[in-house]
Amino acid sequence: MKHFDAVIIGAGASGLMCAATALRRGKSIAVIEHNPKALQKVSVSGGGKCNFTNMAASKEHYLSSNPDFCISALKQFSPRDMLQFVQNHRIKTYQKTPGRFFCSETSAVLIKALLQETSAAEFFYNTVFKGFEQTKNGFIVKTEKNSLECTSLVISCGGLSYPGLGVSSAGYDAAKKTGHRIIPCRPALVPFNLDSSVMKHLKYLQGISLPVEIKTGSRRIKEDLLFTHFGLSGPAALQASLYWNKGMPLQINFLPETDVFAHLKSLKQNSKQKVNTVFKAFFPDKFINFIIGEPSLFLAETPDKKLREISSRINAWTIVPAGTRGFRQAEVTAGGIDTADVSSRTMESKKIKNLYFTGEVLDITGELGGFNLQWAFSSGYVAGKNL
Ligand SMILES: Cc1cc2nc3c(=O)[nH]c(=O)nc-3n(C[C@H](O)[C@H](O)[C@H](O)COP(=O)(O)OP(=O)(O)OC[C@H]3O[C@@H](n4cnc5c(N)ncnc54)[C@H](O)[C@@H]3O)c2cc1C
Repeated sequence: MKHFDAVIIGAGASGLMCAATALRRGKSIAVIEHNPKALQKVSVSGGGKCNFTNMAASKEHYLSSNPDFCISALKQFSPRDMLQFVQNHRIKTYQKTPGRFFCSETSAVLIKALLQETSAAEFFYNTVFKGFEQTKNGFIVKTEKNSLECTSLVISCGGLSYPGLGVSSAGYDAAKKTGHRIIPCRPALVPFNLDSSVMKHLKYLQGISLPVEIKTGSRRIKEDLLFTHFGLSGPAALQASLYWNKGMPLQINFLPETDVFAHLKSLKQNSKQKVNTVFKAFFPDKFINFIIGEPSLFLAETPDKKLREISSRINAWTIVPAGTRGFRQAEVTAGGIDTADVSSRTMESKKIKNLYFTGEVLDITGELGGFNLQWAFSSGYVAGKNL
């Protein structure tokens, strides 16, 4: 049986950063991947241009039952380190908003760089990880095709989101088998479905995108919201889904910088205009018809009670989504392997020596904007440095 210093399960962002880091330290590495090629998620991420980091990456941008867990890894391999990695490979980048970095060309350039960095590893593609056994000196890793021996085992097999790209619960199963707890998994960074009774009124808005502020629980998110044929999408909805649980309302402010009631009152005196005309500068007609309802209302004749009603629909439209689009359309999986039993400094299991976990399989989920790939790279680096 072939022996390696480490076997890494999963040729995703975190697995390959782990492999690259360990190879630089002279370790022998095998990577097991059930897809025919590596980095499938990187290839589709950021609309094909891969939003690979965000300079703002810090614990405030991650959701976890253990909010401090990500701090050490993000410090050991920071967004600046990731940017340096990319620049060392002469990859051209651009910032969509300050600090949010994408590849100028396509994700393919970053994939090429990661494959170059890991060319000394032995890759086993089209090979499904089936489990492992502990031995006196390490592990025997079982796949459907072969068995490999290793000193360290790294579980980097990602979450359950986007099954179309080949995902599995193998990471969670392996963790459970070794006594690790799993924080319940749910789809996140995912659009919302609305009830058909609501969609009856909203279907005309399909395709309209507006800058909004969404409040869900104690979180406020300022981003663009997109109305779709099934409900709500766009960055605002995706981001809100990270903090949303079934049954919770979303409160949407369509004019977050304006107190709409005060604005209408200030215009009311001597006004000859209709209420809906006031909003022509802010919204498309279809949205005005939906949010105001009665197109013939004259501002001067509309009682304050009615103006308050209209204002509250614009400043605090409240809706309870029926659910989300599920793992099929989720960019990430929230929840995962409980970090309480994993070292935040090394990513090593506190239960089993030389067993490591990296990336999305852990209960760390970043907001939209490059935070998830940064987490994958940081945690992969840390494991690669310590195995
Ligand atoms: C459409 C989309 C767009 C995204 N865009 C961005 C973005 O722009 N920026 C950002 O930060 N994040 C983005 N993300 C999230 C980001 O891609 C992931 O969080 C990140 O890739 C996770 O890396 P990982 O290495 O932990 O897991 P993965 O990249 O999922 O890698 C896990 C690997 O393990 C393999 N595997 C699983 N089970 C087995 C098994 N049993 N045997 C063998 N191999 C197995 C998988 O095939 C996969 O290659 C996006 C995600 C999606 C779906």
